[in-house]
Amino acid sequence: MRYERQILIKHIGESGQNTLMQSNVVVIGAGGLASPVLTYLTCAGVGTITLVDYDIVSESNLNRQFLYKEKDIGKLKVQVAKKQLNEINSNIKINQISEKVDANNICKIIEGADAVVDCVDNVETRLIVNRACLKMDIPLVEGGVNGFYGFVLSINRNYPCLECIGYDNTKMQKPSPAIGAVVGVIGSLQAVECIKILLGLEGIMYGRLQNYDGISGCFETVEIQKNDLCEAHRLIK
Ligand SMILES: [Zn+2]
Repeated sequence: MRYERQILIKHIGESGQNTLMQSNVVVIGAGGLASPVLTYLTCAGVGTITLVDYDIVSESNLNRQFLYKEKDIGKLKVQVAKKQLNEINSNIKINQISEKVDANNICKIIEGADAVVDCVDNVETRLIVNRACLKMDIPLVEGGVNGFYGFVLSINRNYPCLECIGYDNTKMQKPSPAIGAVVGVIGSLQAVECIKILLGLEGIMYGRLQNYDGISGCFETVEIQKNDLCEAHRLIK
């Protein structure tokens, strides 16, 4: 009964639902983007979800990180998130890793995943996750927000990655400006991309950078190309 409405979708059906139940997704970061990503993957019945975040809940998280409540301030995010998500769906397995992601532990963290969703708020970690997913040949869904602007991009080794498009030169304001509703738009798009990847559907946004400008209300899709000079891609070989 729980999945009745999504089994009705011709792209999912009973077999797609079983695929989701057998899927394993690693979500890096348990903050603003991860709130919709984790919630929707949990609702959809993705069978195994691994939460990766070392941070605790603070008051300044509450404008966008709807997994957390005032009473959670000071608690470890992965613990609160796991409890919240299992209250929505007790049939899925949720693993928690409260470690800071770095170049040494990332491969072990994402090993065996069918997809990785990157929900962090800094360039350094994104680049580490990007390289590791290319190296381990695991599809990656990237998303980011700056104020009313956001982007989404799906990546695999056959398509452009963050370094191909020069993301390594990005300078982010710290802390980065963010309003919850825009973070929700981008996180929801990331969840959709992740579900498409798990189901093997067509139309995954590989090689297409989706930009969203909340001020003008416009979505813009930009075709992007692999860069022969990309160090992340070169390291695969
Ligand atoms: Zn690349």
